Amino acid sequence: MTAQAARSEELVTVIGLEVHVQLETDTKIFCGCSTDASDAEPNTRTCPVCLGLPGALPVLNEGAVEAAVKIGKAIDADIPEETAFHRKNYYYPDLPRNFQITQYDAPICQDGELTFSESGERRTVGIRRAHLEEDPGSLQHQGGSIDTAEYTLINYNRAGTPLMEIVTRPDFRGADEVRSFLAKLEEVLEYLGVFDSTRDGSLRVDANLSLVPGEEVGDDGDIDESALDAANRTEVKNITSHKGAEKALAYEETRQKNAVQRGREVEQETRHWDESRGITVSMRSKEEEKDYRYFREADLPPLQVADWKEQIDIPELPDARRERFRDEYDLSGEAASKLTSTKQVADFYEDLAGEFDPDLAATWVADNLLGELNYRDIEITDVESRLDEVHRLVELVAEDEITAKNARETVLRRMLDDGTDPDSVVEEEGLGKTGEGEVQQAVEAAVADNPDAVEDYYDGDDGAINFLVGQVMQETGGSADPGTVNELLRAELDD
Ligand code: ADP
Ligand code: ZN
Ligand code: MG
Repeated sequence: MTAQAARSEELVTVIGLEVHVQLETDTKIFCGCSTDASDAEPNTRTCPVCLGLPGALPVLNEGAVEAAVKIGKAIDADIPEETAFHRKNYYYPDLPRNFQITQYDAPICQDGELTFSESGERRTVGIRRAHLEEDPGSLQHQGGSIDTAEYTLINYNRAGTPLMEIVTRPDFRGADEVRSFLAKLEEVLEYLGVFDSTRDGSLRVDANLSLVPGEEVGDDGDIDESALDAANRTEVKNITSHKGAEKALAYEETRQKNAVQRGREVEQETRHWDESRGITVSMRSKEEEKDYRYFREADLPPLQVADWKEQIDIPELPDARRERFRDEYDLSGEAASKLTSTKQVADFYEDLAGEFDPDLAATWVADNLLGELNYRDIEITDVESRLDEVHRLVELVAEDEITAKNARETVLRRMLDDGTDPDSVVEEEGLGKTGEGEVQQAVEAAVADNPDAVEDYYDGDDGAINFLVGQVMQETGGSADPGTVNELLRAELDD
């Protein structure tokens, strides 16, 4: 191994994130335009405020502040008595005013943290700050990516959508951790009801990565502030998914390590994640804070948030709900984790557990439903309108109308594959459990038709009973309950 390669191996990967999440409000943060632009023609969800026309004044949307306070409480952040807005000045076509209204020295949340699981271990990452700001418009590069496009179209429908920018401490040590963190963050935001992960571009990540000499890492895993500042880092922009974040950072880690191995220095710069090519490309040298000429937004007075903090409550969050599921429904840690993986899953489980046996409900949601959804690569949100039917299916099992096996292997699968409702599948496939009289008849017939097996049974051959059960099952088309058949047979034979 060369000396350089050895040196690069002693480097520790350090990552910090700036996560932008769109807050799910009906209207934009400083005007009354709708935030729902999914079906709208470009540039039709706009007004003088979000187009930055001269003289148009911003009015703060209460809903955005409420969402920010909820997030602050969920990440255990300090929410100051007073918060304020600043102008961040830069010229870019997606920003019609040439400044973005954001927060600077008085963000609404400071010093929070988020705990998540990574490979079975609990990890906590510090959150330096989280602040409110407006989303810029969106650029649509035509005929290529950002560096190869022929021309670019612009759509201001997105301009003014409320954003929360969540800035973590550089506490991540690998790309895999980032992915788990983002999944947990989304889960918490969805529990709070402030975020819609199905909205296009609702989560966007700028990821900072540097390599720090191993000897700078303390025994507790912390790295000295001065060593963090000294390390040249790149900021990767344009990441829009958990998977994208993991891929972009793995790429960036390798690229930086290769540079060091070849004896080159990593340049401090902003890079762009090109999802389709799976690489990061250099965009510009990193801008510095002083470039932005921050100053107070005089059109918005400082906001007193102390009262909001008192009045706004947050719902039970995933970790607390998982613990409650373990206690209340006597579930294993693994089952409780699965059942609280998203709010919809947890709500559906509680709906079933309130009505049927909690263990039966757990099997149906955690194993059967999630298993079949996973197999089809879809989410519970994709079948939200059919959960009533799944509820009915569980009822059929709970009331012993059909066997668990038929319910799982035939009814549920057909429900998902061709959209048939459970009662129709049961009827079409003749899965209704055979009436007791009919089973009893089949039992008597099996005993009468199979004297050899009966004799073996009396001789103590336990296999004989299984054979007879099989005969009855065949006779009843598989719709009898094997346990019941077994009992009826023994009763008949031991009579
Ligand atoms: P700047 O003011 O230059 O934007 P900040 O201190 O605001 O820097 O941090 C921006 C982001 O960079 C944060 O997410 C932080 O965690 C991350 N960061 C800071 N130092 C490092 C580092 N050495 N390596 C990777 N990320 C870092
Ligand atoms: Zn507007
Ligand atoms: Mg910064």
